[in-house]
Amino acid sequence: MTVKRFIWAKTFRTFIIVPLFLQVSFQAQGAAPDFIPESPESKLTSEYVQLTEDGGRYGVAPDLGFCSEWNPEFSYNGYHCCKKFARTRKARAKSCFRQRAKASFCDERTAEQQRYVESVSSGKVSDVLSFLDNEIRRSSEQAFCTVNNGFLAQGRPILATASNRLLIRNAGRCVAFGTDRMAALTEWLGRQVVQKYAEAEYSNVKLLVGDVSAPRGGCLLGLSGRKGHASHTSGQDVDLGFLWARKNAQTPNEFYRTFDPKTNFWLVQNILQNPYACVRVIFLDRKHIRSLNKEINKHGSQEDRQFWAKMARFVRHAPGHANHFHVRVGSVSGAPGCTVDARPELEPEDENALPESNSEVLEVRIPSRSTAGSVAEFQTSDVVKVHP
Ligand SMILES: [Zn+2]
Repeated sequence: MTVKRFIWAKTFRTFIIVPLFLQVSFQAQGAAPDFIPESPESKLTSEYVQLTEDGGRYGVAPDLGFCSEWNPEFSYNGYHCCKKFARTRKARAKSCFRQRAKASFCDERTAEQQRYVESVSSGKVSDVLSFLDNEIRRSSEQAFCTVNNGFLAQGRPILATASNRLLIRNAGRCVAFGTDRMAALTEWLGRQVVQKYAEAEYSNVKLLVGDVSAPRGGCLLGLSGRKGHASHTSGQDVDLGFLWARKNAQTPNEFYRTFDPKTNFWLVQNILQNPYACVRVIFLDRKHIRSLNKEINKHGSQEDRQFWAKMARFVRHAPGHANHFHVRVGSVSGAPGCTVDARPELEPEDENALPESNSEVLEVRIPSRSTAGSVAEFQTSDVVKVHP
C-alpha cells in the first residue's frame, strides 16, 4: 500500500506537476511576446470591472489585440490591457517597470507621428489648430485605462511653431505626446499667449510645456529609474510652467517658483474655458492658490469673482506643484469637471511627483531648440543629462 502510494506520488510529480510548472514559468518569463490569453472575452470582462472602480470616468477597456499593438507595457503587464493598479502609495512608487527608465522615448514614436512632425515642419499642415479640430471630430478614443496605469493610441506630438509661442521643455526626450484634444488645448493656449502678448517687447513670452506622455503613453520614469510621475500615462496630463510676462525678458526653459497671480489667473481662466478639452483638475501648490484668491478678491472684477466662485474647486493643492501647473483633461470638450456630477476632489494626485529639488536629478534636458519660427526637432543625440 505504502509502496503503491509512493509510486503514484512520484508519477504525479514527474508527469503532471513538473511539466505544469515548466509551462507556467516559461510563460511567466514572457517567452512568447505575441501571446494572447486563450479567452480574451473573459479577461476583458474582468479588466473592465477593474476599470470602473473609479466610476468609469477615465476611459474604456479596449480589446487585447489593440492593447498588444499600442500599449508599450503590454508584455510587462503580463499581457493585460491595463496595468494592475497598486493600492498603496509605496506599491505605486515601485509599480513602474525598469525598462521604462530611459533617457528618451523617441524610439516609441510611430511612423504616423513622425510624418505629422514633418508635415507641420514643412508647412504641409499649415494650420495646426484646424487640423487638430478636424482630427478630434473624426478620431475615436485615444486614452485608455486610467491616467495612472494607461496608455495612448495615435498620440499627437505637441509642437512649438511660429504661431503658438509654446516652448517644449524636454523636446529631445519625446515626452510631449497627448490626445488630439490635449494637443489642441496646448496649441490654443499658445495662440492665446500670442494674442495677449502681441507687442514687440513681450514677443519672448512663452508657455512652457513640460511632460505630457510618451509617444504611446505608459509609465514615465526618470533616467535613474526612480518614478518620474504617477500619472501622465494616457496623454491627458500636462505640466505647464507659470507664465512669465516681463518686458524684453526671455521665458526660461525651466520651471521656476516665481508666481505672478494676475498673469497666471489669466492663464488659469483660459485653461478652464478652452473649447477643446474639458478640464478635470488643475494641481497647484496651496501657497499659489492662496495668492490667486488674494489677487481675485483684491483686484478682480465682479465677473472674475463670479468665475472663481464656481471654478476654484477645480484648482487643487497637491504636493510637488510649487513650480508648475499640472492640468488633467477628459476625453470630451465642455465645462470643467467633464460631467455634471464632477468630483475634482477625487482625482488621483501625481503622488510621486518629486519635490523640485529632486526632480532636477531625474530630468534630462536639452538646450532649447524650439524657437519661434521652427518646429522643435527630435534628436535622441541631443539629450544631455544636466545633473548627475
Ligand atoms: Zn504632472
